[in-house]
Order: sequence, then structure tokens, then C-alpha cells
Amino acid sequence: MADIIQLLPDHVANQIAAGEVVQRPSSVVKELLENAIDAQSTSIKLIVKDAGKTLIQVIDDGKGMSTTDARLSFERHATSKIRTAEDLFQLNTKGFRGEALASIAAIAHVELKTKQEQDEVGSSIIIEGSEVVEQEVVVTPVGTSISVKNLFFNIPARRNFLKSNQVELRHIIDEFHRVALAHPNITFEMYHNGSEMFQLPESNYRQRIVNIFGSKTNEKLVPVEEDTEVLKISGFVGKPQFAKKSRGEQFFFVNNRFIKSAYLNHAITSAFEGLLKDGAHASYFLNLKVNPKTIDINIHPTKTEIKFDDEQTLYAILRASVKHSLGQFNIAPVLDFERDSNLDTPYGFKDKNANSPSIEVNRNFNPFQEEKATASRTQMSYKKEVAGNWEGLYVGLESKGTKSQQDFSEIQFESDEQTVSMFQNEHAIGQQQSTFQLHNKYIISKIKSGMLVIDQHRAHQRILYEDFLKNITVKEAMSQQLLFPLALHFSPQHMTIINQIKEDLEHTGFVFANLTNESLEITGVPVSVPESEVSIILEQLINDIENEVPDSNFSATDLLTKSMSKSLAIKTGQSLTIQEQEYMVNKLFACKEPNVSPNHRPTFVTMTLDELDRKFL
Ligand code: ADP
Ligand code: MG
Repeated sequence: MADIIQLLPDHVANQIAAGEVVQRPSSVVKELLENAIDAQSTSIKLIVKDAGKTLIQVIDDGKGMSTTDARLSFERHATSKIRTAEDLFQLNTKGFRGEALASIAAIAHVELKTKQEQDEVGSSIIIEGSEVVEQEVVVTPVGTSISVKNLFFNIPARRNFLKSNQVELRHIIDEFHRVALAHPNITFEMYHNGSEMFQLPESNYRQRIVNIFGSKTNEKLVPVEEDTEVLKISGFVGKPQFAKKSRGEQFFFVNNRFIKSAYLNHAITSAFEGLLKDGAHASYFLNLKVNPKTIDINIHPTKTEIKFDDEQTLYAILRASVKHSLGQFNIAPVLDFERDSNLDTPYGFKDKNANSPSIEVNRNFNPFQEEKATASRTQMSYKKEVAGNWEGLYVGLESKGTKSQQDFSEIQFESDEQTVSMFQNEHAIGQQQSTFQLHNKYIISKIKSGMLVIDQHRAHQRILYEDFLKNITVKEAMSQQLLFPLALHFSPQHMTIINQIKEDLEHTGFVFANLTNESLEITGVPVSVPESEVSIILEQLINDIENEVPDSNFSATDLLTKSMSKSLAIKTGQSLTIQEQEYMVNKLFACKEPNVSPNHRPTFVTMTLDELDRKFL
């Protein structure tokens, strides 16, 4: 048989390699920014159009390239950064594979302009799909400018695979943050579709963090410094009381390179143990310096994971120094007058009185009151005849006097706490009661065929969700004016998100004023939203939008309503008065889709008498 193996032509090999290096526009951003840093630039400008799908341009004032190097830089495995395999173990540069420019040029239209200081003129090269289209001598400033246009123009499948501009832009901003945080001594600018997104002058590390994440960040930072033989640590962790539900602000840099490490992240989490609210994540901005010989960066093509020789020691040092800093700066449980302390209390410790604050009773009060009429459609009876049997049972117990009450308490297998709160709720048992709350989690309600067990949190989510949706689509939400405007601070990135959803938020009843690129004022809130929860709601919302894995039918309105209902819904652990329980049941069955939560989880289950009877067989 004839020989069949052939060498792939370069442009095909490059396209294949490109798949590994360039997953999306942000990969290009990362490679170009890193090249600019390796070229010892002091000022770097990133210009992006349509989230990088149309244009990504990086302009630097670094050392530039000679005409020959300019042409060579697009060859695969062409690099000025390493010469021998040994160099791999003492890397001081970001790049070393010599693959990025070749890969990018294989799948986009690339234009390079570059000049070295000692040269009179510079060179310009245009490459499209690995083909050099034009090369000429040009007048251009010292440094390098690379424009990457029409990414994936020759791989439609990859182009179609790209996510919405919002998502792709977020990835780009993430890369930009990582590089900018690793190099506070370099000036960075970023523009998207002609408007400035970041302007980061050369500064110290703290200032760089503040310039990126907003001026409010400053007071949240606790410095961490440690200098040992194997590891130097410098940077900041966020004070626990400012911890957010999002994982957003977690940065490790090892020798100025952003890395991800679940193991080291765990070291921080354990240093914060006991200081964070449920579900909150520590934020950190930490620079680790280790001997380059003790790490291997070569294991991942995009190089965000690295291997350490002695991870356990690093873990121990990191954990200890973060703990030390938190202790030294007196971070352990503090009084913080800026926050509503109720929000910080884990639900399990919340006031367990049967009488909830009246605001809870009224939180859903709104003009859509047709539920009474609709509830009858559901053929369930919430009338007063319901609790007859239970009443009989309890009355019987009481009449037997103290002794049997003792017996009764002896056969409680549940913890005392639960027993007590159960009876707290039962104060109205003598009245005709149609609902009953179990473990501050479920509402039990009698129906003809047996009983309903309603998940209070999910049910309330459904109720609020439909209310908000109605408000947004009808566009006539009730707003409640605030006596004093509420000033809130966000990072510029989060303000961008708020601007995108502002109109929808207004339809729910929010009224905004004085928006800047890192703050806003709220002068009105939806009637169902307590003022004290506004900032939590917005934070949760931004987090949800950032973490949404958006697909083509991504709807901001839906996300907004889901997020708000999740934030506001009565939580598991909250005890409800009988009125509240009944209100919840009625309101739930007045919903269009009472049986599932906004996230399509069941809101209630039924248990028929038959099923119960069978258990007693
Ligand atoms: P690597 O960065 O791994 O060396 P690249 O494909 O990213 O590979 O770049 C190839 C070479 O092109 C680099 O080694 C460097 O010499 C040169 N180069 C790339 N970008 C720049 C730039 N902005 N300024 C100066 N030289 C650059
Ligand atoms: Mg490179």
C-alpha cells in the first residue's frame, strides 16, 4: 500500500494550535497584554469593539521589534523569551511558547505596527489567516500596536459558538483586571465601543485595586505581608464583614502571573473560618513570590494553573499569615454600624418569636388582590373546619393532666428547641386553624384528599416572581418614596451592569438618581422591598447576572425577577404567624404556576390519606 502520511501545511497546523490558545476574544486580550508587558512597556492601551468580536487592539510603548522580528513573530514556536529547555524552569516572562501570535494570525485579520527606539522608521504587517497580505515600512511611534479584527472569520463554527457581547466583554474585563492587578506600576487604559471603561494610572497596589473596584474598596482592605525563605506574600484580603456572595474578587498572582488554585483558595477560606456569613466568599488580592525553579507553569496551554513543588508548606504559610492579619487588624466579630445587623444574622439564630415584625406580614401587600377569588378554582378548602381532629387530639392531652403531659414530653425524639418552637406556633390551636408550620420550613395545609406540604421559601419565591413579572410587563409598578435617598457604591464594572438593567428595575418600582460610574442614589423602591434590603438585592442581582451562563434566550427581565424574588422570599428558618401561613397558601394558589418555583423546583407535595393509611398497615 502507498504511503499515506503527510505533514500538515503550516496554516492548518496553526489553525489547530489556535484552538488551544484562543478560545474566545478574551484569550486574545490576555496574550496581547502579556506580550506588551514582556516588552517592558510602561503604558498599555486596550481598545475593544463589540466585545472583541470586531476588534481587539493593544497599543504599547515597549521595546518594539525589528523588521525581521516583526515578520518572524508570527511563525509558530518563534519566541525571543527562551532558548533552551532549562530556561523553562526560570521563567521571568509571561510568554514562552511562541505560539500566540501565530495562532491569532491563523484565525483573524491581524495588523501589526512596531518600531524600536533606535530605528528611524517602523514596520507594518498585515496577515489574514496566516497569509502575509502586506508588509511595508511605516512611520509609527516607538512600541507596538496590534489589531486583531474579525476573530474566527474562517472558522464559522467557533464564531457562532461565542456568547453574547455582555458575556464576552465580561471575560475580557476579567483578563484585563488580572493583568492590571499584577502590574500596578504600568499605566493601563481600556475602551469599549469608543467609551472609556478603565483609566488606571501607575500607582501602588492598594490604589490599583481601588481604581479598578471603586473607591469604597479602600476601607475594606486588610494588608497581608509575609516574608519567609520559600514564600513572600504581599497584598490584601477583604474584611469579612464586606464579604459578598459572589466569588468575584479572588486573585492569586504567583510571580506576577494570575493563577487559579483551589488548594490555595482553601487555605484562605480556612483562615476566614467562623468570620464569614453563610454563603459569603472571602475576597483577596495576593501576590506570592516563589523561586521560579520550584514551580512548573508548563502544564496548561492557557497557563492559569501551575504546579508547586511544595504546596503543603505554601498552604500553611498562607493560611497562617492571612489569619494573623485578620487578627492583627482586629477583624474578628466587629460592630459595624453601617449595616443592618439583621442581615448578618444566620437564619438559625433569628428571633424565634411567633410574632414576626409587622413588616413581614405586609411585605407583599400590594394592589393585586384577586387571589381570594382565584383560590377557589384550586378546589382546596382552607376553611375553618380543617383542624378539628388536631384540636381534639390536643384537648384530649390537656385534659389528662400533668402526668401524661410529662409522658408526652418524654416521647419527643426531636431536639428540645424544635419542640418548643412548634408549640410556640400552636398558640392558636384552640381557634380553628387551617395551616400549620413544620420546623419553620414547611407549611402543612389540609386538603380533601389528605394534606399539602408547602416549601415556604420556594412558594414565596413563586408569589413574588409573578408579582414582579406582572409589574414589569404592565410597567406600572408602585414605588415607595424614600425619605432620604440611599447612596450605594459599586465598582465601575458593576455600574455597567446596573445601567443595562436600569430600565427594568425602574419598572419594578426602583427610582434612581445621580448615577456616576461608581455610585448611584436610590430615591424610591418597590412597595414590597424593605429599604434595608435594597443593597443586598442589588448585589445579589449583579452576582446572578455575572454568573448566569447565558444562552440565546437569556432574558434580563426574567433574571431580574428571579433574583429579586430569591432575595426577598421568606427564608427557611423563619417562623410565620397563622395569618402569614394562610396568606402564603392563598397567594400561592392564585399564581399562574403554583406548583413550581421560578427555578422549576416543586413548591409543594401532596400526601393523600391513602398514602398515610398504607403506612399504618
Ligand atoms: P511568546 O510571547 O510566547 O514569545 P508570541 O507569539 O506571543 O510568543 O510572540 C512572539 C514574539 O513576538 C515574542 O517572543 C516577542 O519577541 C515578539 N513580540 C510579540 N508581541 C510583542 C510586543 N508587543 N512588543 C515587542 N515584541 C513583541
Ligand atoms: Mg506571548
